[in-house]
Amino acid sequence: MILLALHGAMVADGYDDCEGDLIAHARAIAPCAVIGVELDLHCHLTDVMVREADVVIAFKEYPHIDMAERANELFHICRRTALGEVNPVAALVDTHMIGAYPTFDLPMSGIVAALRAAEARPSILTATIAHGFAWADVAEVGTKVLVYADADVQSAMREAATLAKRIYDSREELLPRYPDIATSLDRAIALPGLVVLGDFADNPGGGAAGDSTYFLRALVARGAQDTVIGCMWDPMVVELCTEAGVGATLDIRLGGKCGSTSGEPIDLRVQVMGLREHHDQACFGYRQTLGSAVWIRSQTIDIAVCSARSQVFDPDAFSGLGIALQGKRLIVVKSSAHYQARFSEIADHLWHVRSPGAMSLDFAAIPYSKRDAQYFPRVQDPWALRGQPEPRTFVRQRASV
Ligand SMILES: [Zn+2]
Repeated sequence: MILLALHGAMVADGYDDCEGDLIAHARAIAPCAVIGVELDLHCHLTDVMVREADVVIAFKEYPHIDMAERANELFHICRRTALGEVNPVAALVDTHMIGAYPTFDLPMSGIVAALRAAEARPSILTATIAHGFAWADVAEVGTKVLVYADADVQSAMREAATLAKRIYDSREELLPRYPDIATSLDRAIALPGLVVLGDFADNPGGGAAGDSTYFLRALVARGAQDTVIGCMWDPMVVELCTEAGVGATLDIRLGGKCGSTSGEPIDLRVQVMGLREHHDQACFGYRQTLGSAVWIRSQTIDIAVCSARSQVFDPDAFSGLGIALQGKRLIVVKSSAHYQARFSEIADHLWHVRSPGAMSLDFAAIPYSKRDAQYFPRVQDPWALRGQPEPRTFVRQRASV
């Protein structure tokens, strides 16, 4: 058996499907091996991957709380395949949709429940909805459904078609209708307790710089009280503040350095409140580095600034720098959805914000150059235009063990 833990949306210059290529090379080296692949649900689930592997399983949950569960599932299905106990056959459906679908909220939580229900049916081995990674310019970008049945091609096709229709029928409801920054701050100020807001578009996990200033500028303009924001990625500011030392007050030019999607830099007089040379945070069971980092304060806004780019996963991205979160009114995190897993434990209210920046939620306007334009939401009903998508099947010939 060959078991691979991959992301599935790796793109290199001139190379649109790095992981499909890796799987194909593994297959060429070991033609008789059972090859199992675990993917992030933000993958491009390409034909090459499904054709060359025996079983491909993506996470079901976004935030990705089920990585270990899926790895166990993959191991057991591949082991049974290697022993000749099951014979996985695949059906793959392209939904002709592009989007981003956090699974903690309706309607996506209900669709994940349907996915699990499909797996409980006789002969179905495993079912995946690959959400896709919308911000990549590749031909196979989009939302796809993949179902494996035990030797029963018809069952795989039927379940894949049913699940594809389920998500397609929910496409309007699945459009992200998050409030913008101004609306979110109006709401947050009126609410009791702690509000946590996700700066969706400046998520380094999706390729954004993590140094956009739109949210911070709005907080400063409003004189936000008892507020925390981070992690801003600005190695130069980390270095300046580290040299100045804890307790120092200095003028800095923060963020907005990486390009037009980051907005303009913001000039602030700040006090250095804390330093950490090797900062890190919890991330789905492991520790993830944030590099050297500083806690600075402007008015009553505490700002975490780091030198290693990452989205915020855990409150210890702040508390690990010494920022006390008790008594705060508002926390703004550079993250799209993963923060929801841990921050919902401390938040009285939490939502994602339609902020400006690199990861635009206007999926109809993303300037793809390699995929066709007949996808939702660029067109309202792509199935009417191009016909209801037929499940495509992938059946491997396996030597019996
Ligand atoms: Zn992901």
